[in-house]
Amino acid sequence: MTDRYASFVQSAAGRALVKRLGLPDPPRLRRHQPGDPLLPAPALVGAATGGRLAEPVGKILTAAGVELADPTATTTAGATARFGALVYDATGITDSTGLRQLYDFFHPHARSLVPSGRVVVLGTPPAECDSPREATAQRALEGLTRSIGKEFGRGVTAQLVYVTRDGDAGTLTSLDATLRFLLSGRSAYVSGQVIRVETGPATAPADWDRPLDGQVVLVTGAARGIGAALARVLARDGAQVVALDVPAAGDALAAVANEIGGTAVQLDLTAPDAPTRLADHLAGRHGRVDVVVHNAGITRDKTLGRMDADRWDQVIDVNLSSQERINDVLLERELIPAGGRLVSVSSIAGIAGNRGQTNYATSKAGVIGLVDSLAPVLRERGISLNAVAPGFIETRLTARIPLVVREAGRRMNSMAQGGLPVDVAETIGWLAWPASAALTGNVVRVCGQSLLGA
Ligand code: NAD
Repeated sequence: MTDRYASFVQSAAGRALVKRLGLPDPPRLRRHQPGDPLLPAPALVGAATGGRLAEPVGKILTAAGVELADPTATTTAGATARFGALVYDATGITDSTGLRQLYDFFHPHARSLVPSGRVVVLGTPPAECDSPREATAQRALEGLTRSIGKEFGRGVTAQLVYVTRDGDAGTLTSLDATLRFLLSGRSAYVSGQVIRVETGPATAPADWDRPLDGQVVLVTGAARGIGAALARVLARDGAQVVALDVPAAGDALAAVANEIGGTAVQLDLTAPDAPTRLADHLAGRHGRVDVVVHNAGITRDKTLGRMDADRWDQVIDVNLSSQERINDVLLERELIPAGGRLVSVSSIAGIAGNRGQTNYATSKAGVIGLVDSLAPVLRERGISLNAVAPGFIETRLTARIPLVVREAGRRMNSMAQGGLPVDVAETIGWLAWPASAALTGNVVRVCGQSLLGA
């Protein structure tokens, strides 16, 4: 489905009208194309005194082909230099008075980013800090990044990445993966997020253009919408995709699987024998599954007073209970090896709640509960579990929303537009990389920094 208003404002007539009437001005977002450099312009890297990450980050960025700007030559002939990204290591800030260093770095460069530029601040998880003062200062970083995301406009995104102090080799690999995701056009519709990089069995790919080479990835709900976009992104990145959907969607599913050279599994996830049939298929065909993406989901909207029990049961069963049953069987049969990754699809409705969606919001909040409770358990087995929570994404689901509500949902975010299925797909893709295995327990919103549930 298309956003006609966004296309109109990018025309000459549209630009004039938007300016004159002060209407919302959705920018054209930079999205990833294979072979693109990570950034269209140099990155400026700064650090608070005593920061522990500026050096490894400089090495990571250089190895990734990012040009580092000379911090002493930020203006040429009175014009401010244009940066692709501002990356700041704030781990050296140990009390609130040190927060002034954030102002000193960002204030002179507040208008120096190119459209769809990137801001990344690196911190230490407050729970790991040595003193209450340090934890306070590190927690304060969230206010800065969330505000920059709202303030800078023109498709600029801003994120806070907390990196564990007790890192291992996996930590640096997953920091590398995270920076590559956040700086690139893959993260076009992700802003205002807090991401934690911990320890784990992360491994760097031989080729970062194919970060999923040789990986077996199961995608549920792959016949259309976000799942179909995801299957394409994963295959583009080198994965062998096992695409699953209900038998009724068999034709569409076969078309997706054929297009990407994957396999199709027709299965209703709510069938009592679905977990064992799926496990048998994966064991027989591949002997394992490296990544499981629980994407299939349904809505059955009604206000609670008018909702019959069937609507409640179906939504909880497809969106939440089936994920639990499948995880249990795949883990029990040890089909997910150490280093494996699970990604679940939640929703902003599970964070903010939504009128007419008590069943759906309960199921999607449950997905976040699943991440909170199961990620620490899986960690013991070297398996990661994260969730993405999409906001307003342009799909058949959102096309059915009445016009006025749809326009509100679409514009009430820092990008003034809805996201595309590919934006959710790229975010899940990053969490599915072997290089991301030291990320676990995260819930990453793909919502353009929606005001809902903020
Ligand atoms: P969609 O309806 O286009 O696709 C969902 C797919 O899941 C369909 O192909 C469907 O056949 C499949 N499915 C449903 N029940 C199944 C079952 N029992 N067994 C196997 N497959 C089943 O939806 P979408 O918009 O692509 O959404 C994908 C996921 O993203 C869902 O979990 C949804 O809740 C979530 N989400 C979507 C949005 C959005 O704006 N579109 C926002 C937030 C969250």
